[in-house]
Amino acid sequence: MPIKSIKSSPTHPEGHYFIRNSLFNVQYSLFILHLFQNLHTHTNFSDGSDDPEKYIEAALIRGLSALGFSDHSPLPFKNTFALKEEETGRYCKTIAELRKKNQISSLHETNIKMQNAKGKMQIFLGMEADFIPGIGLSFVYFRDNFPLDYLIGSVHLVRSGSSSELWFIDGPDPATYDDGLNVLFGGNIRKGVGAYHRQINEMLTTRKMDIIGHLDKIKMHNRGRFFSETDPWYIALIEETLELVRQSGTIVEVNTRGLYKKRSDSLFPGPMILKKIHDFNIPVIISSDAHKPFEVSMLFNETADLLLEIGFRELMILTPSGWNTVSLKENSI
Ligand SMILES: [Zn+2]
Ligand SMILES: [Zn+2]
Repeated sequence: MPIKSIKSSPTHPEGHYFIRNSLFNVQYSLFILHLFQNLHTHTNFSDGSDDPEKYIEAALIRGLSALGFSDHSPLPFKNTFALKEEETGRYCKTIAELRKKNQISSLHETNIKMQNAKGKMQIFLGMEADFIPGIGLSFVYFRDNFPLDYLIGSVHLVRSGSSSELWFIDGPDPATYDDGLNVLFGGNIRKGVGAYHRQINEMLTTRKMDIIGHLDKIKMHNRGRFFSETDPWYIALIEETLELVRQSGTIVEVNTRGLYKKRSDSLFPGPMILKKIHDFNIPVIISSDAHKPFEVSMLFNETADLLLEIGFRELMILTPSGWNTVSLKENSI
């Protein structure tokens, strides 16, 4: 890894954050708490590649303190990415058994190191619930019927008014995004992005979730073609949504997947929105949205560096007794 330093900021009272190079990292890692965790993970129960155990092995090797599984909630129509409804019980039972087997009584540094040395780590059972107004099972149904530790609320499919057709904004192929925009919104990007944000806002005001997933996913296939993230109308939509995030007490995930898959030029959300999230005092976590075991902590150190540069000082972490905060400055793997 090339030497990477973050320049001291004249406005930051502590000056240097830290200099990261390979030698320094080795020394540094001996003295810090390894409390990075990834709560956004997809296994072969939905659209991930492997059994859950493979992700735990990869997370142990990479020094994560905890791993949360968040396979896609089942949907009431044919698709290739979500849990099958009849498989949801087995998914939850499998992860709950791994959670029990790997139980860690406290998050003390020594305890984590001892547990990791024994090949164990804290496991959490979650789900990435799709919000599509009027379609699908409610978040309450998932919470009430399965022993979930947390829920990520996400929008991947956008409704256009009363039409039952959906705009798929995710996936690897930009042509799907372009076709949906043309067919459902007449190619009008302001209408399409407006519908996406209305759907996110409805989710924030009518559903209870712990984390909002990839907040600005709508930009992924845009890549500057249809709108600029500095357009005043787009910024107004972002600020309206962030106000609802703040009011609802939801955590924003800083999702690295778009960057490491090279499908996006920036994180979800990107730096402009992250600065606003910092100004709004909204809590954040870092997650990789892993679909393969080796993706469990991709770009975590780089993302932590960026968050520090913006001014964040804490990350949220999930513990067996609920949500807590951890110092971002002392976090590295
Ligand atoms: Zn997602
Ligand atoms: Zn996901």
